[in-house]
Formats: sequence, C-alpha cells, structure tokens
Amino acid sequence: MIQPEIAKAINDQINAEMWSGYLYLSMACNFRAKGLKGVANWFQIQYKEEMAHADALMDYLDARGGVITLAPIAGVKTEWATPAEAFADTLAHEMGVTKRIHNLYAMAEEAKDYATRQMLNAFIAEQVEEEDNVQTIIDDFNLVGEDGTGILQLDRELGARTFTAPTLWK
Ligand code: MG
Repeated sequence: MIQPEIAKAINDQINAEMWSGYLYLSMACNFRAKGLKGVANWFQIQYKEEMAHADALMDYLDARGGVITLAPIAGVKTEWATPAEAFADTLAHEMGVTKRIHNLYAMAEEAKDYATRQMLNAFIAEQVEEEDNVQTIIDDFNLVGEDGTGILQLDRELGARTFTAPTLWK
C-alpha cells in the first residue's frame, strides 16, 4: 500500500502531465490556425505523449492501491507568434517538469518507497529525451531564422512525426 504523501504527489504529477498535454494541444491549435501543419502535428503528438505519461502514472497509482483523484486543469496560453517562441516555452516547461520528477524521486527515496523510485527511473530517462529533442528543434529554427524556405522545410520535417506510445514503468 502506497504512503498517502506519495499518493498525493503522484496525483499532483498526473495533473501536471495533463496540464502539459493541454499546453501542447493549445500550441497545436495555434499553429493549425497559422497554416503550419507540421508544427501543429508535432505538438499534437506531444499532447498524446503527455496523456500517455498521465495514464502510466494512473496505472501505477492504482496498482499500488492508491486512489486516483483528478483535479481541475489550469488554463493555458493560446497564442504563440512563431514556432521558435513555442519551442522555447516547451523547453522551459520541460525543464520544470524534470525538476518535479526529480523532487518526486527524492521524496520516494526519503520515504524508502523503492517501487516508486524504480517506476520514476523511466520518467527520468524520458525527460532527458524530451529536453534533447526540443533543444535540437530550437537549434534548427535558430539556424533558419526568418527564412521562409527554411521554415517550410522544418514544418515538413515536423509533419513527419508519428506517435509511438512511450515505454514507461511496465
Ligand atoms: Mg510528460
């Protein structure tokens, strides 16, 4: 049986993952409206990944005998002028998520909850990948700058992204 303070922290993380998804969905809608279909596709898939993170945490909490309690999802920004601005926000947000996962890990360690610590290893690895992927895209957009042909090419590349469910704790 999971300790109540760990269950509470996991419920908070479920909300944070859903909020992340909502943020990326908002970015997808914004770029869809601006005709950047590839960028919109990338964020739409990112939204699905965040939902998969939330699902995995819900499955874990349930498996440990914890009660999943869904809290309201806070509002998100709805306007980004350029992909560069949205990807910069994405990186800043993911760095915050990484900090949250690390805090959760430290909490599990402190509470001697080794199962939660083990489950979080996959999330720690996932965050390294998230930050690296987003940094690469930021570098690409910096490289092309205001060049329309370059932006169009990056939009096509981001349009090729497909969803594969992330491998998490099981
Ligand atoms: Mg996530």
